[in-house]
This record gives sequence, structure tokens and C-alpha cells, in this order.
Amino acid sequence: MVNTVVCKEEGCIGNRFKISVQRLKIILICIECGGFEKYNKEMNSNVPTICRSCGEEIFKVSKDARKGEMYFECEDCGKKFTFTLVK
Ligand SMILES: [Zn+2]
Ligand SMILES: [Zn+2]
Repeated sequence: MVNTVVCKEEGCIGNRFKISVQRLKIILICIECGGFEKYNKEMNSNVPTICRSCGEEIFKVSKDARKGEMYFECEDCGKKFTFTLVK
């Protein structure tokens, strides 16, 4: 089941995020409040921080916890990419 990722900060219902990448983490930054959430990633997995087709940097994010996948959808052009979560 796919669930939309919503900001967990109290009082914020932001559901659009910028993506920042560290060596072993992917960080979702809420564009409403600046709150962030980190997820583990493989060292060599390639996560784009901007849309590969239009260069936009804001994404809607959803997650399928059972499959262990996260889906990013470009807010501007709707292009999607899938990211596999690391346990
Ligand atoms: Zn927020
Ligand atoms: Zn785009």
C-alpha cells in the first residue's frame, strides 16, 4: 500500500520536499517548515536531488513500506523515480 509522506513536525502538514543526499543517508526537507527526515541508503545508490527532466527540486513523496520503496514525483513535470529503502 502506497502512503503519501507528510511532514512529521507538529502543526505542519507539508507534503512537498527537497532532497539532500549524504553518503549513507537521503534527507527529505519539508519546504513548508524546513523540518527534515533521514532515511538510510546504499553508499553507491544514485539518488537525484533535482528532477532529471526539468531541473525542479521539489518533489511529492510517497512510500510503500511493505515493498521497501519510496516514490518521488517532480512537482513541476510529474516525472517519477523510485528509490529502494535500506533496512
Ligand atoms: Zn513541515
Ligand atoms: Zn520535473
